[in-house]
Amino acid sequence: MSANTYETLNAKVGRRSFMKMAAVATAFGVTSSFASTNVTRKATEEEIKNPFPGSKLVKSICTACSVGCGVIAEVQNGVWVRQEVATDHPVSLGGHCCKGADMIDMVRSEVRLKHPMVKKAGKWQRISWDEAIEGIGSKLENLRQTAGPDSTMFLGSAKFGTEQSYYFRKFAAMFGTNNIDHQARI
Ligand code: SF4
Repeated sequence: MSANTYETLNAKVGRRSFMKMAAVATAFGVTSSFASTNVTRKATEEEIKNPFPGSKLVKSICTACSVGCGVIAEVQNGVWVRQEVATDHPVSLGGHCCKGADMIDMVRSEVRLKHPMVKKAGKWQRISWDEAIEGIGSKLENLRQTAGPDSTMFLGSAKFGTEQSYYFRKFAAMFGTNNIDHQARI
């Protein structure tokens, strides 16, 4: 992608951000108390042209599946602020499915899961990775001992690459079951 194209992207407001801003503007517009307290003001021409001064455009990929479609991440002070498609990406050629089109909100979402969590006494609690891996391993081993390996089924992820799929298949075989498939199958 050329520097000119990046500049053009820089001047755009992402579709999702635009919809959010429009919704907020509408909500404020119908609330007279906000109108009288100067909560909002009209954006300047410069702010409309360049709402994220000093931002950089970083080429990245969508991680929701192993296709790896191109994403242009606009980053300001280390924060991903806006997303556009990578029209020059050799695989996706500017296309996205709905998951990739919303990749920025998987990062910025306030409900994003950042750590392993377990529900204890009805409440979600953060646990360490070691606890999570140990806990899942113990449950699998217990199932294997008490109900046999065919009491389990292994579902591969859409994020798996070829090598990960190979190891996952091997893991199921070593566990002792042929119950394995791709999650998209169901
Ligand atoms: S989830 Fe969609 S956008 Fe993301 S890499 Fe896969 S096909 Fe591409």
